[in-house]
Amino acid sequence: MGTFEMIAKHGEHEEILFCHDKDVGLKAIIAIHNTALGPALGGTRMWNYKNEDEALTDVLRLSKGMTYKASAAGLNLGGGKAVIIGDPKTQKTEGLFRAFGHFVNSLNGKYITAEDVGTGEKDMEYIYMETPWVTGIPKDFGGSGDPSPYTAHGVLMGIKAAAHEKFGTDALKGMRVAVQGLGNVGSNLVKYLTEEGAIITVADIDQARTAKIVNQYGVKAVAVDEILAVDCDIQAPCALGAIVNDQTISKFKCKVIAGGANNQLAEARHGDHLRELGILYAPDYVVNAGGLMNVFVELEGYSPDRAFEKTRKVYDNCKKVFEIAKRDNIGTHTAADRMAEERINTIGKLKQRHPGKSFRAFTTLKEVNNR
Ligand code: NAD
Repeated sequence: MGTFEMIAKHGEHEEILFCHDKDVGLKAIIAIHNTALGPALGGTRMWNYKNEDEALTDVLRLSKGMTYKASAAGLNLGGGKAVIIGDPKTQKTEGLFRAFGHFVNSLNGKYITAEDVGTGEKDMEYIYMETPWVTGIPKDFGGSGDPSPYTAHGVLMGIKAAAHEKFGTDALKGMRVAVQGLGNVGSNLVKYLTEEGAIITVADIDQARTAKIVNQYGVKAVAVDEILAVDCDIQAPCALGAIVNDQTISKFKCKVIAGGANNQLAEARHGDHLRELGILYAPDYVVNAGGLMNVFVELEGYSPDRAFEKTRKVYDNCKKVFEIAKRDNIGTHTAADRMAEERINTIGKLKQRHPGKSFRAFTTLKEVNNR
């Protein structure tokens, strides 16, 4: 398939920038999917892609996902993403990221980057040497640092909203919650759930990490191949994607799935299947938007308290999704997409009627540019 055919197949992206600098070995692609709500924000992934087609497919898919995530979160942000082709373990250099920063800068704020798989704070610092259009920079530079506690707090809000919907209460005291994955998000979630008085079961492939959490919070651990089948009220997947699939779906004994992991449904049909089984699925990208809310606050001028407050919105966003699912008699995964699209269409039309009027996000970004 030709490059333009591939781009067309993945939807209506506004702009794709291929970035090449042979002196530093940079091969990267920036995809801007939609800027109806604001500048396209999304991380830069560095990955050893097998070939350029694989990299292009990934960046097109991920940038579209960011459009939906930002819209559903109620943020004045569009969706974009970047990929750098290369091995993050051996091919990172200052020159590579500064050259990439030049390409980001050439888009003049239409795309704002951040950390993603294979990139970290140090890389963002190099990009920041060439452009202001970067978030996730170290705290010393006015950045927001690690987003995981905010993501985890948003996940807690999503769990509460789903509990309210399914059980009629968002008090989690005595509620049985299973957490798969005890990394940055999962470990913070266990902390919040403990404070709520939930009865927690955990699993992680990392034995040392599991032991640490068990000791710290007095939670129960089970084997990694048992966690999804644990008899509980709520499953909170915080490790891998595609955990709801043909093999796992009949094993769930929970009434709610609400967790931080990305792309939890192997395919959309699994969302419909969960609905048939009477399991309420709180859509992943609505639930795990706390990290994105956190970097959005960084664009406004960072305040940890404001970021934390903002993550409470995940509760209302999930409730809205559940309402749309009931209104339209559809699965919650479809309802989340519908909610995101409704907002993009409404605000997009408003923007056409009032051209030249900037949104708040643009105004504050100018301030960022001047700092
Ligand atoms: P992480 O790498 O810190 O943690 C993932 C944990 O999952 C690790 O401890 C790992 O050992 C464990 N794990 C891997 N495979 C497992 C398995 N089969 N069973 C049990 N445990 C397993 O990652 P993270 O930052 O905590 O992110 C977790 C998920 O949340 C990912 O899907 C990520 O894309 C998503 N997410 C994270 C953020 C964030 O702010 N970090 C934001 C949005 C979404």
